[in-house]
Amino acid sequence: MPDKDKKARRKDILHGLRNEERQKTRDGFPASAVALKGLFSFLDEALQTQDCDDTLRLTRDFIVRNVLKGDEMVEWLEDNGGYCDCEVLDNVEQIVSDAVPDYENL
Ligand SMILES: [Zn+2]
Repeated sequence: MPDKDKKARRKDILHGLRNEERQKTRDGFPASAVALKGLFSFLDEALQTQDCDDTLRLTRDFIVRNVLKGDEMVEWLEDNGGYCDCEVLDNVEQIVSDAVPDYENL
C-alpha cells in the first residue's frame, strides 16, 4: 500500500514540524509555562470583578508580585497580541496552551 505509506510519512513530517513550532514558541516564553498559566488564572479571576482599563495594569501587578522579568514579559505579551489585560487573556493564553503539552494539567 504505497499510498498509505506516503500518507503516513507526510503525517510524520507534519507532526515533526508542528512539534518544532511548539518547541520554538516555548523557547520564546519569557517565564515558565506554570508562571504564565498563573498569570492567565489571575487575570481570569480579576476580570470577573473589574473591567479591563485598556492597560496592562493587572498584568504588571502580577509581574511585580511574582518577580518576573517585567520588560521582557510585556514585550513578549505585546508581540503575541496582548496589549491590555483582557487581550492577554483572550489572545495569549491560547498561544501558550497550544505550545505546551498537557497545559491543562500544569
Ligand atoms: Zn482590554
